[in-house]
Amino acid sequence: MLREKDEILETNINDIVKKIKTSQINATDLTTYFIERIERIDSKINSVITIEKEQSLKRAEEINSIIKNNKELSKFPLLGIPIIIKDNISTKNLRTTAASKILSNYTPTFNATVITNLINAGAIIIGKANMDEFAMGSSNENSAFGPVKNPWDFKKVPGGSSGGPAASVASGLCIGSLGSDTGGSIRQPAALCGIVGLKPTYGLVSRFGLIAFGSSLDQIGPMTKSVEDCAEILEVIAGYDKADSTSSKSEIPKYTKEINKGIKGMKIGIIENLLGEGIEKGVSSSVNESISILKDLGATVSKTTIPLLEQAVSIYYLIAPSEASSNLARYDGFKYGFSNKSSKNIWETMEFTRGEGFGDEVKRRILIGTYALSSGYYDAYYKKAQQVRTLLTESIIDKFKEYDALISPTSPCVAFDLKSKVNNPLAMYLNDICTIPANIAGVPAISIPCKFSDNLPVGLQIMGPHFSESKIMNIGNSIQKISNWHKEKPRI
Ligand code: GLN
Repeated sequence: MLREKDEILETNINDIVKKIKTSQINATDLTTYFIERIERIDSKINSVITIEKEQSLKRAEEINSIIKNNKELSKFPLLGIPIIIKDNISTKNLRTTAASKILSNYTPTFNATVITNLINAGAIIIGKANMDEFAMGSSNENSAFGPVKNPWDFKKVPGGSSGGPAASVASGLCIGSLGSDTGGSIRQPAALCGIVGLKPTYGLVSRFGLIAFGSSLDQIGPMTKSVEDCAEILEVIAGYDKADSTSSKSEIPKYTKEINKGIKGMKIGIIENLLGEGIEKGVSSSVNESISILKDLGATVSKTTIPLLEQAVSIYYLIAPSEASSNLARYDGFKYGFSNKSSKNIWETMEFTRGEGFGDEVKRRILIGTYALSSGYYDAYYKKAQQVRTLLTESIIDKFKEYDALISPTSPCVAFDLKSKVNNPLAMYLNDICTIPANIAGVPAISIPCKFSDNLPVGLQIMGPHFSESKIMNIGNSIQKISNWHKEKPRI
């Protein structure tokens, strides 16, 4: 029934759920439709590492019987919605690799809290998405399962590290996805693939079950076609969790309502130091187009400069690798996944397992991090980076005394050619200049599609103060109500 009609790809979550609840759409048909799409299309894109066919069809049957028995359906805001999950989020009995050889045969015995929340809301996990190994990268080329292709142009990267989630949403292989964002990994691929991606406030969404990269920066967030869908998913995954010691007890607003308030009278700042040198012309001109929409909608928009912003990449590329070097110490060949069997003693097991199991970029991060934390260098690198982190955080938060939100491009460039930066780490790291500041300060930021440049998507980033998800999604949703950029689809 659904095969002929790809209109499901144009429908928002709320409307699909209504149709499922009233049996206008059958959960099994819907799941089958997406699984078949993955099987048919994904060989070109490589966005999915593991397809969960059998279990998701079983789950769809369960959902059909929930509907038949009319069990308080209002308790299931995502009833029957097929979701793909980034492969660094633990899923019980479903392989979770972090796109690394070292975890290529690892199957968790528990669900991450976000997964439990999704399942309780009625969602169906149909697969696990490709990514940069351990979420380290900006192009999805650092994956033990091969690179992901950008659905808008197969010669280009989809961005990273959540390239798989972004490409799978953009090419209609699922209705929504979850990614993780340590320095931009949700927002930058969302921008390069023309979808919406939100990094929540640090502590809003539980990190329990997320394979740790930089624990003081990591957050899980939704990746969707529209801001409306993003709010639907955030409402389900946000909230206090005693299993995450950094989880916040703040009240969760009804985001799906809050995003319709309109932005008349809001004060929005354009981050001037993210619109000049180093930003592609096509990117700045399409960001400027969104600025005029914001003005038309009644917001006051003016330019502002954030002091110390230029330090963000240096701070991040000391703190994130330092935390990673500590977090990745657990992969020793004994506790998880892959283990080298040719070694003669435990030291060799560790050495050979890590030597073979980790890819080059992961090793580079471990080396940098170990160096920055070592005695003699700690004060000069790690401690200094922490001190400048505090100053930059203050400088960002200070801006919110004056502005409701700050906007900038999400990425300095549109999707670039595969292999063009993979051997130049510095060029790759510089891609993160616009996204890293929000992680450093722990504030939320969303990327939404704006006008295309050279037939490739461009992302507009909206950043707000801590726990202002309602506000930044409201701004994004207001733009989407009167524009069509988020409705464009790649022809595959
Ligand atoms: N591109 C950044 C990095 O390589 C950010 C990654 C992320 O957010 N997980 O570290």
